[in-house]
Amino acid sequence: MYSAYYELSSGKGGVIQVFQSREIDLYILNQLFFVIISIGSVSIFVLILISSYMAKKSLEPVRLAYERQKEFVGDASHELRTPLTIMRTNLELLSMKEDETIKENEKWFNNIFSETEAMTKLVQNLLTLAQVDHNQIKSNIENLDLSELTKKICDKLILVASEKNIQLKSIIADNVMIKGDANRLEQLFIILIDNAIKYTSEGGSIVVSLMTTTDKAYLSVKDTGVGISENDKDKIFGRFYRVDKVRSREQGGAGLGLSIAKWIVADHKATIEIKSNLGDGSEFIIGFNTKNKNVNRL
Ligand code: ADP
Repeated sequence: MYSAYYELSSGKGGVIQVFQSREIDLYILNQLFFVIISIGSVSIFVLILISSYMAKKSLEPVRLAYERQKEFVGDASHELRTPLTIMRTNLELLSMKEDETIKENEKWFNNIFSETEAMTKLVQNLLTLAQVDHNQIKSNIENLDLSELTKKICDKLILVASEKNIQLKSIIADNVMIKGDANRLEQLFIILIDNAIKYTSEGGSIVVSLMTTTDKAYLSVKDTGVGISENDKDKIFGRFYRVDKVRSREQGGAGLGLSIAKWIVADHKATIEIKSNLGDGSEFIIGFNTKNKNVNRL
């Protein structure tokens, strides 16, 4: 509202008042208020969405580790329960045969014995993996003669293979030197050769070979066994993963060997490759750096 006073020469005066409508201003203010409130609420909503997404994303590794741990404990207890149940059933059976001799019940004693062995191996493997998870294993890296180590292990396992009527041949290049932990590598080769024996039928054969190029050494374990499908080649390195649970269990396996093998390979900055077709045998090839610039703990 604008007001102006005037006075005429005659002495009379008055006021002129002009009114301007503020409707448009108020309308604009209202609109502005509405826009600010809307943008504000949308921004708060978007911020909540983004922060919950970020929180979820940053907690994902923790959630995955927790899930893995839970799964691991569940699988481990399940694996331990099976031999315990078998042992208990066999013991119950024996307790009902108190008049019979041990010889007469050899079968039940053997069952208990083989389950104890399987359980000991399982507990050892579980312990190794738990130590791996907590970085508690210190490898003892030293110069070692891979040729000698491979020969020693083949000599050890040749009898185990022949018990199953499997021929174990070895073609080993001399004086292959690498830097590595002898005990861990022995464990790795035993896992691979033992698997080759387990998953090859009677009358089959296994060839262990060690070859070198200028800066690499390749250890191959090749069998004429059941083979591994393309789909399973990655999965078999997972903990407790077995292609055929029943067959593997019969052979005393719990699906932990290759997870340990994978860790030993990684610890030596080596590589592992599988060549296999289902029903057509398998070949596991480990590639070591003979110069070993990569093993940095030396
Ligand atoms: P397991 O103790 O059951 O043998 P591993 O982790 O050593 O456990 O192996 C995982 C699975 O990979 C086995 O159960 C088997 O199905 C498959 N596998 C491993 N080695 C061989 C092989 N040489 N030939 C065929 N299958 C194999």
